[in-house]
Amino acid sequence: MSLAIKYRPKNFDDHIGQDEIVKAFKRALREKRIAQAYLFAGPRGVGKTTTARILSKALNCDNFNDITENPCGKCSSCRDIENSRHIDVIEIDGASNRGIDEVRQIRENAKFLPARGRYKVYIIDEVHMLTIEAFNALLKTLEEPPKHVVFIFATTDPQKIPPTVLSRLQRYDFKPISTFDIIARLNQIVKVENINIDEKAIEEIARRSDGSLRDALVLLDQMRMFCEDRITYKDVLNILGAIEREVLEELLKAIYEGDYKKAISILDTILQRNLAILDFVKEFNEFLFDVFKEVVNNERKGYEKEDLMIFLNLALEMENAVRYSITPKVWLEFYISKMCFVPRTVQLMNILENYNIVYRAKDIKKEEKIKNEPKPLTLKEKLETYFLEKNDPYISGAILASNVIEENGKIKFIFKSENKFTAEELKTKLEVLQKALNYLNYPNREIEIIVEEENPLKLKLIRELGLRKEDEQ
Ligand SMILES: [Zn+2]
Repeated sequence: MSLAIKYRPKNFDDHIGQDEIVKAFKRALREKRIAQAYLFAGPRGVGKTTTARILSKALNCDNFNDITENPCGKCSSCRDIENSRHIDVIEIDGASNRGIDEVRQIRENAKFLPARGRYKVYIIDEVHMLTIEAFNALLKTLEEPPKHVVFIFATTDPQKIPPTVLSRLQRYDFKPISTFDIIARLNQIVKVENINIDEKAIEEIARRSDGSLRDALVLLDQMRMFCEDRITYKDVLNILGAIEREVLEELLKAIYEGDYKKAISILDTILQRNLAILDFVKEFNEFLFDVFKEVVNNERKGYEKEDLMIFLNLALEMENAVRYSITPKVWLEFYISKMCFVPRTVQLMNILENYNIVYRAKDIKKEEKIKNEPKPLTLKEKLETYFLEKNDPYISGAILASNVIEENGKIKFIFKSENKFTAEELKTKLEVLQKALNYLNYPNREIEIIVEEENPLKLKLIRELGLRKEDEQ
């Protein structure tokens, strides 16, 4: 039996994460106040159907002579409700029974007294899927419901329910279950089940379940199937992927469409999970490479392989920048926006020639030449290396973010406006820079640190690509 089914709450006391709602129901049941129609609204997997079943048990438990706040969960009525086979508790899927005929049938059927329990309960899941005609038919029943009938409507999308219907329902809003509550529940369950698992792995599973205990249990089940011995945090990352593939797909799509705002907002959502930034970057790069391979092998459409190559090149730079920086998030956002704005296959050859990766793939002879006589480093690369060797990754990273050019005997470090703080910081390090330049055989040069404010990133980037070529000469 799956954990999600085995540990579905059997009564209100087992219920997790919806304390306010549980409290309200217990009091109402104690005081014998039963509404005839309820609306349970909220995201999927947070206990709406489970609560509907527990309420049905409270109305029909055999171990009590009247409704109770504490159904036993063990009598045959409770068990049949649990397994959706109680004759008086009818569960209907609104998505596949959306028409007026189905609702008419419910109305006919509702007239008859319960066969076995005290109340006839209709649980209609995804009720917002009903057609307008079906809602209108339902409304007639809701206006004058038979005394022995209780309706429970569940929905993920309450705003789609007509106001005339809404006004007849007692509404409960179910919230996503807190990660804290999910972790606590998972801890109880792994103890009972003797599952050998790291605390950090539990936390990661809880985080991924997005407020759904059911999802958390499904993930735990999945992990249990794959890991024979102990489930570690690493196992969770390996098996479930550090980030869900759909999220990465969404991010890549936003980048490809140049939708900078969307890309950054997806990024924010991902980073809210407290993932190490370098881990995320590695995961993203691997994903990018997978997509690239699929495109090259004609297994996937929608992306140009040349564009993906440019992304990959930037992705590699990004990994380096993030690895050595004390402000990795800045670099991550910088490179993701760079990917958004980098020109697409337009002027393709022009741009690609600036990237050795393509250059090499195109010209094997050249590659051999490159192998034999290593390409001289640009001043920028020399400086980066110099400071990395001096164990000063911050300056190295700052230089990586700038364009370094030699002009009229001056050495210019040109920053983009979003890096102005880095530029300011670098201005305080002129002495160290001078020393580095002296060491690299650029003695006593004047240093200029420039922030370019006015140009949109896209233009800057095109120019940067042009400059890069000059650098390499
Ligand atoms: Zn019972």
